[in-house]
Amino acid sequence: MDRPTLAIVGLGKIARDQHVPAIAATGLFRLAAVVSPDGATLEGTAHGDVPTFRSQAEMLAACPGLDAVALCTPPAVRHGLAVEALRAGKHVLIEKPPAATLTELRVLIDEAETAGRTLFAAWHSRFNAAVEETRRRLAGAAVRHVAITWKEDVRRWHPGQDWIFAAGGFGVFDPGINALSILTDILPGPVVVRAAELLVPANRDTPIAATLTMEGAAGSAVGTVTAAFDFLQQGEQTWSIAIETDGGRLDLTHGGTRLRVDGKPVLAEPDSEYQRIYRHFHHLIADASTDVDGRPLQLVADAFLVGRWRTTDAFHW
Ligand code: NAP
Repeated sequence: MDRPTLAIVGLGKIARDQHVPAIAATGLFRLAAVVSPDGATLEGTAHGDVPTFRSQAEMLAACPGLDAVALCTPPAVRHGLAVEALRAGKHVLIEKPPAATLTELRVLIDEAETAGRTLFAAWHSRFNAAVEETRRRLAGAAVRHVAITWKEDVRRWHPGQDWIFAAGGFGVFDPGINALSILTDILPGPVVVRAAELLVPANRDTPIAATLTMEGAAGSAVGTVTAAFDFLQQGEQTWSIAIETDGGRLDLTHGGTRLRVDGKPVLAEPDSEYQRIYRHFHHLIADASTDVDGRPLQLVADAFLVGRWRTTDAFHW
């Protein structure tokens, strides 16, 4: 396969922080265009000559030979863009979460199949060596308890991103779904949500904090799972998963980039998630295959279904 051409749609934080450098570092795709409604460009970067278009439709019309798009917009607008790109015959990489609803995701999978194009729903946290190693160690283990703690300061990590607190923006589940993407990847069996408590600021639509109680589905080798998500964490920021098994304890910390087993460091890797993502996307296209796992999104939807909703203090940036 020649080096496919790729456009980034949505030139915000994650596109600039991760996608652009990973595309340059891997060299597997040629960045041919970017789409930004406010006309933002890549000027000042190694891709300064890449043209900007105001909409994906405009970009698709101007670049008929384009092979693929990476959708880095907020989730609420992503579905229409993904369908448009697939119908135009493009391979599609979607940032997490892959859709705003479960039905949207089902429709997207069908669209990709009809178009005969690759659809890759990238759960970036899974692309860490420590997560892979944890999965390997848990295969065949009896997991007694998992405790997820995903607590960060929204003002520091998502400054001014009002879409997160608007309906369809996932609130604290925007980072929290990363923990659920790791959970569903490493456990040797499925879990179900039994209860949840969701705290929504009086002036917003989506939760700013949540706790979830899950357990292994009947007959699985998984015991109980708790998750605590918080968007108002001060001081130390925590993205960790503690796993107690019949054979010892594993601690995945720093968003899944480090692993300790019974207190001893086993793996600590510099951040290379996005380079692995682009290698995988390239491989999927060459292989004419698709990679979409809806389980993390299902757990969020289940928490929203069974959860108790509470109103809390208004949130201002
Ligand atoms: P962001 O900084 O708000 O960037 C989103 C970008 O999408 C903005 O530049 C926005 O442009 C653009 N956009 C909105 N509607 C568009 C449309 N119809 N066509 C083209 N572009 C459009 O958000 P982000 O933090 O990068 O997050 C984007 C996605 O990546 C989210 O799903 C998030 O969960 C995921 N993600 C984020 C991080 C992170 O650390 N931030 C990490 C991993 C994954 P305007 O500003 O002009 O509207």
